[in-house]
Amino acid sequence: MQTAWLLTPAQVYTVESVPNTKLENKSYVSNPDGLINSATVNQLDQLLTALEHQTTAQVAVVMLHSVGDQTDFDFAQALFEKWGIGRSNKDNGLLILFIEDQRTVRFHTGFGLEGVLPDAICKQIQIQKMVPQFKEGNVDAGMIAGVEEVVRILTDPAYAEEINEAAKSTEVSQSDFAWLIGIGWVIFGLISFFSKRKSGFSDSRNFNKDVPHSKMSSGQWFLLWIMIPIGLLTVLPLANSTLAFAGGLYGFFGFAAFEKYMRMNKSADSFIKKGEYQTVYNFYKENKGVLGLAFLFPIPFAFLRKHFTNKMNLIRTHPRICKKCGGQCVKLTEKEEDEHLSKEAQFEENIKSVDYDVWKCSNCHEILYEAYISEKTKYIECPACKTHANYVTGSSTKKAATTSSAGIMVYHYLCKFCKHTSKVESVIPKIVVSDSSSSDSGYSSSSDSGGSYGGGDSGGGGSSSSW
Ligand SMILES: [Zn+2]
Ligand SMILES: [Zn+2]
Repeated sequence: MQTAWLLTPAQVYTVESVPNTKLENKSYVSNPDGLINSATVNQLDQLLTALEHQTTAQVAVVMLHSVGDQTDFDFAQALFEKWGIGRSNKDNGLLILFIEDQRTVRFHTGFGLEGVLPDAICKQIQIQKMVPQFKEGNVDAGMIAGVEEVVRILTDPAYAEEINEAAKSTEVSQSDFAWLIGIGWVIFGLISFFSKRKSGFSDSRNFNKDVPHSKMSSGQWFLLWIMIPIGLLTVLPLANSTLAFAGGLYGFFGFAAFEKYMRMNKSADSFIKKGEYQTVYNFYKENKGVLGLAFLFPIPFAFLRKHFTNKMNLIRTHPRICKKCGGQCVKLTEKEEDEHLSKEAQFEENIKSVDYDVWKCSNCHEILYEAYISEKTKYIECPACKTHANYVTGSSTKKAATTSSAGIMVYHYLCKFCKHTSKVESVIPKIVVSDSSSSDSGYSSSSDSGGSYGGGDSGGGGSSSSW
């Protein structure tokens, strides 16, 4: 049988044209191009016959010159399905596919073998036992060594466990992971370092120019965001403990957040010293973002968050100093306020878009106004009368968005105070079509494959190596 195939010229195989030698002569090895000699075929058959008797696992070895431009994965999956390698109730099949012109060997495992022959082990067998031989042109020796290793793993549970443990420790180790983060970190860090050199190493959005202490020096920033993280990523993996690794990173981000909080407080204090209470209040309000860290770092931020809100309330009520005479100011009650507030301001207070504090000097009776714009209000400033009483009454589509162009939405505004109406146009992003409809090619469990193989299925597990 074998010699007959040797005489035919090397051809490009399809799944249909690969001779199923298991059907023809009960051989596990399909070698139509004579890529290994008949003595090797016999040796492999002996090994694999014994394996199936002992474990019921079926291993098919297919040696082909070429499958054209089909990938080893697709070809293996299709052949596995057609032949149904492995018992149908156990799916304990393995296809070892050798493709000469692609210089590739692929292990394609049935569902039932994925546990004992995980992808990493398949890869390891190929790299250690087969590829070095193939590189030297010793195809026979490489195939025998690879199949012997597979048989040993499938028949000797102790050996299988040993191999699996060894493979696990060589999988992505913590230090490899740290290296990966580290490289990304340095690239990203240097990009932001150079982009920040122009704007300054600041983190308060609205007070960049005048807020003292809100900026770090370039050296401080470089130390905190590049040097310390790199140091940690080098040192932490040495502890070889996931807890220490995660804890170290938590500590770092917690520290960075705390450092920022302290800087913010310093900035705030410098305003308090100058008596600019409303500026401090707004500064805290605009930098509330740092409080969001309470969710990531409950310690210390859950405590700081409370402290922070208390501080804002204190600042709002802290006695003001008269700028004219230096005397003490007294905050007027809501009723006393009204005679000092304009109609617009009173209107804003009524619709709760702005809250006014009115302070009166107890010495010279100078009046000090402070306006606190509500964060929750639907009202914005009216372009005509400047009162915070402008709100959206409706919207209409001027131009619908399509998949090729953006659309325009028009919002209609009405000022509740002066009845001025206005329109604001806003862009509707163009429609993005997602490809989520692509169907899953779910491997059909071909029960008609029959043959001498048992009808096992593969989920596409396995691995391939090239040389
Ligand atoms: Zn005064
Ligand atoms: Zn108005």
